[in-house]
Amino acid sequence: MLGLMQNHPLLISSLIEHAARHHGDGQIVSRRVEGDIHRCTWADSARRSKQVANALDALGIAAGSRVGTLAWNGYRHQELYFGVSGSGRVLHTINPRLLPEQIAWIANHAEDEAICFDLTFLPIVKGIHGHCKTVKHWIALCDADKLPADSGVPGLLSYESWIGAQPTEYAWPRLDENAASSMCYTSGTTGNPKAALYSHRSSVLHAFAGSLPDAMNLSASSVILPVVPMFHVNAWGIPYAAALTGCKLVYPGAAMDGKSIHELMESEGVTMAAGVPTVWQMLLNHLSQNKLKFSTLKSTIIGGAACPPAMLNTFENDYGVEVRHAWGMTEMSPLGTVCTLKEKHRSMPEADKNKVRLKQGRAVFGVDMKIVDDQGQERPWDGKSYGDLLVRGPWIIDHYFKIDASPLQDGWFPTGDVATIDPDGYMQITDRSKDVVKSGGEWISSIDIENVAMAHPAVAMAACIGMPHPKWDERPIVVVALKPGAQVGRDELLAFYQGKVAKWQTPDDVVFVESIPLGATGKMLKTKLREQLKDYKLPT
Ligand code: AMP
Repeated sequence: MLGLMQNHPLLISSLIEHAARHHGDGQIVSRRVEGDIHRCTWADSARRSKQVANALDALGIAAGSRVGTLAWNGYRHQELYFGVSGSGRVLHTINPRLLPEQIAWIANHAEDEAICFDLTFLPIVKGIHGHCKTVKHWIALCDADKLPADSGVPGLLSYESWIGAQPTEYAWPRLDENAASSMCYTSGTTGNPKAALYSHRSSVLHAFAGSLPDAMNLSASSVILPVVPMFHVNAWGIPYAAALTGCKLVYPGAAMDGKSIHELMESEGVTMAAGVPTVWQMLLNHLSQNKLKFSTLKSTIIGGAACPPAMLNTFENDYGVEVRHAWGMTEMSPLGTVCTLKEKHRSMPEADKNKVRLKQGRAVFGVDMKIVDDQGQERPWDGKSYGDLLVRGPWIIDHYFKIDASPLQDGWFPTGDVATIDPDGYMQITDRSKDVVKSGGEWISSIDIENVAMAHPAVAMAACIGMPHPKWDERPIVVVALKPGAQVGRDELLAFYQGKVAKWQTPDDVVFVESIPLGATGKMLKTKLREQLKDYKLPT
């Protein structure tokens, strides 16, 4: 017997409609590429999203066609989120930090028909437009008078004149909720990037889950600053979750340095901010160098890479800002787990609470997870046994775009992460399957080794990699970039590991470098580091 409830599809257009109707005067604040601060409301955003939809109709772009973006976090990008997907096209957010040839490859693979870009990325567009075979329209996200006369891009349109003449009314189509809504290519440190293709249903369910109190805890009284880029897994779904809850949104544009972020937090009364550890490190450095505080910030979502313990301590203890460590990936829309405490933890001493907070957290409803051994046998949730982490759920990938072979194992998606899960359901990543250092049959977590080095006051960034060893297969070394003007010697840093990790886990050597290579999403590029160290020989 079927239930007798209405069968309304879950659609992205209903998110912006809800925000406009119930939170019409709610603010969206953006630091623009032009340098100024722009203010609009959810009602403005809905009207302009409809102008985008009409403008796409006018260009004759069919339902299901891909519309690319090369853009920072801002109100225009948000209008494309709702206007493109809401009208039945697929929003393809492209990471502008990739190499131009990779961007062209991705645009061709996705068969983008139009690409909208911030003027910052005009040099990229100039270089690739001749190679993007399917792109018929290039649209610069600016006013007509900011359009460079000699852009070198034939037929270049200004976004404002493109949408400006269009009506602000649009009848959003009643799409199949399983229709594709947006896509994002994985950063692909090896091989060609692969695309996750999200649906309206997966995005709306993800927005519900992301707003929950134990996830991002969003409400109509929150002010959220997504520093995580809108070209990286839809800014962790924040634009959708913000529309669902009607919270105030603050977009940082291209300025992600500590000073700009702190200024925006203070001037806009930001209560919650989301980003990767590298961004927060810049912010914390700025605060400590200038003896500043946060006056409104209550919590930070830190994800995309492991949150170093020193960072958690600084936020929690020095600034009274709650850290919510979160884990996920492009293939998971991205939310998998968030770390918040349970009632039973309330009476714990702060130091013990912080140990829990450093874990990647508990699965949000909708995400099912397990850890398995090499034979695929499930391992216990005892907080000690580690295994390959597998997930399934309604916003987790089934297939990659244009790749027939299923990535799944018996219906579960292998994340490529190695983790433990404790009896309370707190998952902790111990490594990437490919980064774990295998020494004498034991696994050494490269993350643990990095965290110790990062806790040393002289160290700005640390990367642990396994080096081939004739007896132990591999031994860990730690590659370190120091803070400007700071000093620490090899032996002193190795001594710093005493009592913090087991003796056999202590790195065999320290290699000092100017900087650690970072990938397009701000994560350490260990493949590149290994290449740089190809002639390195272990002292042991
Ligand atoms: P991406 O698809 O680029 O977002 O990368 C996803 C990968 O980033 C995950 O599979 C993890 O390896 C890593 N990752 C994300 N969040 C965390 C976290 N909180 N701690 C450790 N690794 C993380």
